Amino acid sequence: MSGAGTTQADVVVVGSGPAGLAIARATAAAGLRTRVVTPCPEARWQRSFGAWLDEIDALPEARAVAQTWAGPVVHTDPLSRHEIFRRYARFDVEALQSLMLRRARLVGVDFHHGMVAQIIHQDDRSAVQLRSGQVLQARVVVDASGGRSPFVRFSGRQSVAWQTAYGLRARVRWHPWPRGEMVFMDFRSLPGDLAGRRPTFLYAMPLSATEVFVEETSLVARPALPIRELRSRLQARLDHMGLHLLEVLEEERCTIAMGGSLPDEEQRLVAFGSAANMVHPASGYMLSRVLQTAPAVADAIKTGLSQGGAKLAARAAWREIWSRPARRKYDLYRFGMETLCSLDADRTRALFDTFFRLPDDAWQGFLSDGLSPDGVAKTMLSVFSEAAPALRWRLLEAGLGRSGITAIRSAAGI
Ligand SMILES: Cc1cc2nc3c(=O)[nH]c(=O)nc-3n(C[C@H](O)[C@H](O)[C@H](O)COP(=O)(O)OP(=O)(O)OC[C@H]3O[C@@H](n4cnc5c(N)ncnc54)[C@H](O)[C@@H]3O)c2cc1C
Repeated sequence: MSGAGTTQADVVVVGSGPAGLAIARATAAAGLRTRVVTPCPEARWQRSFGAWLDEIDALPEARAVAQTWAGPVVHTDPLSRHEIFRRYARFDVEALQSLMLRRARLVGVDFHHGMVAQIIHQDDRSAVQLRSGQVLQARVVVDASGGRSPFVRFSGRQSVAWQTAYGLRARVRWHPWPRGEMVFMDFRSLPGDLAGRRPTFLYAMPLSATEVFVEETSLVARPALPIRELRSRLQARLDHMGLHLLEVLEEERCTIAMGGSLPDEEQRLVAFGSAANMVHPASGYMLSRVLQTAPAVADAIKTGLSQGGAKLAARAAWREIWSRPARRKYDLYRFGMETLCSLDADRTRALFDTFFRLPDDAWQGFLSDGLSPDGVAKTMLSVFSEAAPALRWRLLEAGLGRSGITAIRSAAGI
């Protein structure tokens, strides 16, 4: 831990979540003096983390994977069962956090306890003022303080939607999932469901023969589906399955802002992680993206500092985080997200049924970050053209009509 007033840092990172630790480690590994300001680096991350294994298995953080499943399953109605031939990984969150902290410290990242109150940019440096009154100096400040950062400037109005989820890790006597199977999405309806109900699905991971993680999720909605509704829906689903929880070991309440405006790339402050709106607007995932991209962003900062100073460094970092193709893709995803927000449970099920019938690489790339903008557009257009007439009609009403298709084509540049 450092005291304020010691040597000026090249980079001050605000926050020690996954994004803060990833970027701090990367800037320090690139040779920049890096300091993280955070209330408590050891405070345990209060969330469970999952990712597709192929996105992370080449990274050192893969050492913190606790378990993987070969064939995650999607159910859209009682008769349909789509098996995903892609391994899904669950992290041991404590191990992931310790590993990331250790790797950051090993390359010289310095941690400073505190809450940032204000960031003031001067010519070639910035002053980071803490609530305690202390001031830290840096050439570049990277805000990784999470999804509600007051410091980042966004272009345009932020019309966010919300992913909400309620989950439990629990001990059970028995569960219905065969060895090796996890449920990525179970959209099946429950007895007594009302027509027009908003869609939610079960995400379930059998952790052992006697332990499960079960979570009811609203993929995206505006307004947010309340956690209490998800909790009662999870209970109804467990009752319907005859799954009795003997002891709850952990509870997770999840609220993720999805699809807001993108950050203004002209600002001097750099942001990373959910502060930079890097959460995938179609899935709510982000961890693999920050782990994969941190080194390139750090290199951009280093090159910018050596070639022209703090302003150039910030501009180069923003171009790396939100390149032109990434921005075009984001617009497409946001368009898809708006369509999802307007569909009821039955139509959402029909949409996902069509989506998971597409060739594997089309929908897998769509859910990760693996497609080019025109690949994303082609997947969206394929869903539209393969959809049953009733769904296609609803998609037309929801905005995926002629003007929507033109918008998709022009955003993708096809
Ligand atoms: C419950 C839940 C489950 C999720 N599960 C997954 C998943 O399975 N897979 C996936 O890819 N994504 C998941 N996400 C999405 C995303 O990856 C996480 O939200 C992730 O934690 C975001 O990382 P972050 O570092 O950007 O922000 P955060 O994790 O929110 O970290 C912010 C940090 O900034 C600090 N901070 C805040 N304000 C200040 C300040 N003023 N000064 C100094 N420090 C400050 C905080 O103390 C904290 O250390 C999940 C999100 C939630 C909410």
